[in-house]
Amino acid sequence: MSNLILDERDQKFVLFEMLEVGKLCESPRYREFSRDLFDMVLAEAQKLAVNEIFPTLVEGDREGCRHEEGQVFVPKAFHRCYQLYCEGGWGAMCNSPEIGGQGLPYVMSTAAKDWFVHNFAFLAYPGLTEGAAHLIETCGTEEQKKKYLQKMVTGEWAGTMCLTEPSAGSDVGNLSTRAVRRPDGTYRIQGTKIFITGGDHDLTENIIHPVLARIEGDPPGTKGISLFLVPKYLVGDDGSLGERNDLEVATIEKKMGIHGSATCLMNFGDNGDCYAELLGGEREGMKIMFQMMNEARIGVGLQGESSASMAYLHALQHAKQRLQGSSITQFKDPQAPRVPIIQHPDVRRMLLWMKSNVESMRALLYYASLCVDRELSEEDETRKEKWRGILEVLTPICKAYNSDIGFRVTETAMQVYGGYGYCTEFPVEQFMRDEKIASVYEGTSGIQALDLVGRKLPRKSGAFFMALLGEINKTTARYKEVPGLTDLSADVRGAADTLGEMGLFFARSAGEGNFLLPVCNASPFLMMMGKVIAGWLLLWQAGVAKAKLEPLAREKGVDLSDPAAWKQFTSDSKDAAFYAGKIAGARYFIKNVLPEIEATAKAITSEDMSVMEIAEESFAS
Ligand SMILES: Cc1cc2nc3c(=O)[nH]c(=O)nc-3n(C[C@H](O)[C@H](O)[C@H](O)COP(=O)(O)OP(=O)(O)OC[C@H]3O[C@@H](n4cnc5c(N)ncnc54)[C@H](O)[C@@H]3O)c2cc1C
Repeated sequence: MSNLILDERDQKFVLFEMLEVGKLCESPRYREFSRDLFDMVLAEAQKLAVNEIFPTLVEGDREGCRHEEGQVFVPKAFHRCYQLYCEGGWGAMCNSPEIGGQGLPYVMSTAAKDWFVHNFAFLAYPGLTEGAAHLIETCGTEEQKKKYLQKMVTGEWAGTMCLTEPSAGSDVGNLSTRAVRRPDGTYRIQGTKIFITGGDHDLTENIIHPVLARIEGDPPGTKGISLFLVPKYLVGDDGSLGERNDLEVATIEKKMGIHGSATCLMNFGDNGDCYAELLGGEREGMKIMFQMMNEARIGVGLQGESSASMAYLHALQHAKQRLQGSSITQFKDPQAPRVPIIQHPDVRRMLLWMKSNVESMRALLYYASLCVDRELSEEDETRKEKWRGILEVLTPICKAYNSDIGFRVTETAMQVYGGYGYCTEFPVEQFMRDEKIASVYEGTSGIQALDLVGRKLPRKSGAFFMALLGEINKTTARYKEVPGLTDLSADVRGAADTLGEMGLFFARSAGEGNFLLPVCNASPFLMMMGKVIAGWLLLWQAGVAKAKLEPLAREKGVDLSDPAAWKQFTSDSKDAAFYAGKIAGARYFIKNVLPEIEATAKAITSEDMSVMEIAEESFAS
């Protein structure tokens, strides 16, 4: 293994052998790019990640952030990473070249970030800046673009997202931050925001905060919310920095993980003079903010996958080195030699479970990102809408499924390490601490599930959900008669049918007025859908791998029907080992994990409503 962040062979397999991302270069939008250029981007990302960002992971955790005299300081080592990140243009991979971006396909930006996101405490600073800059690029006036965008794209100034308040967490519509109109068209903001990532830091000279607030007199709930740009330092028309705005960080949170990421409690307008500019139209705040939130949701899904990937590779290395116990085939012989724990069936089970989950999560994120590029590069409106719709349906899965499974993979990695994993001397306990937040921020998993069931499934009378099922069925049809894959294909097809039936079941229940049934089962449904999608993507990968592996074997004269010769061949050749691993991972997942969806379907269709029927007094005496 050349690094313990991600398996670069798998990354390239997903991008170029499975998703055929190189074909994007045939579209007018991306014709400036080539496979060579994509390879170069990935190689540079890997270099920066392995040499600079990964080495600061533990240091950032141990040092953490400081809040002194109103100023927040990030871990020292992050400064060099930030400088290199900005110099490399990594914060503007997808922005248009007119504003200094690289115009790369979104899927390539996701793949490049896959190298950096393992250190989420660090990546959150440039990541949020990129999202905030994109908001201004999409919704800002020409004046705002001139004033703020350039410096955010280069990383000279940072950005955040300020939604959460003490009484407005999941319930963003309940916010109480107020905005007052001024005769000059600007606003003054007053309110408190909590849990703001990067609300202050010493990486940049200025920070531009997109802040959700309600203009005085506007209606309650999400419909009355507007979005404002609130700079830390006021900016003159010529781009020069002016006086300090009326906002301050009262404190930073002490938390379980991502210690290098400053989580700030911010007071806006304590002196009644917090300058703010409207971004977009009045009362359009939530609509606009959803752009940033959807991008951030894919980013948080990537955090889940990346933590899992790093945890898996560390656990794999440990399992190959740690000697403990003898082989199961010699369990009666006390003299038998000690073996690396990777030889024990239960450890192999954990590793294969981790591998198949990590690789399916990666494929899901790259596929979802490719949907963006397909939408952007398609001419035809119907096809554009199809890719946009599939992305909409996939976004809550990317966010909630990946962050939940990602956490479980980090926890399984700790199990592989045994007692060592529980100790801070080894890295996996940090991976687990850092990863847990992914299922909480950017909308908890529960809120993602409600979004999936309540908004995404019914969209266009279920057309987007059906479009996704259609893509799954195309894959199962492709492999249904391929020897060695027929059973896997049938299993995935059956699982997709069950998923479709659950969708219809929910629609019927809601149609009959029983909307509580889908609401109560939203989370199990989301996880079920995640597993079906994972099974689909792994089947697809197995099909691609099989088509590559068999010619390789024939080239070497290997007898495909001889298990011993096959094992030798897949151990000797790196390529063969990789492709055989893809098939094994798919088979394991489809045979051992995918059947879990039948139990979920049985539970859902039982129409059991215990969760609503139990009295609150009965939860504990
Ligand atoms: C480290 C960190 C960084 C953060 N960064 C930012 C940031 O940069 N900007 C920002 O604006 N916010 C940020 N947040 C806030 C984060 O997005 C919220 O914590 C999150 O949205 C959940 O809100 P809450 O904590 O108030 O929990 P609550 O909303 O109180 O939720 C508690 C539980 O109740 C459930 N729940 C709540 N309402 C419902 C409902 N209607 N139906 C079903 N279940 C429900 C939730 O799923 C959850 O399980 C950050 C938080 C942390 C801890």
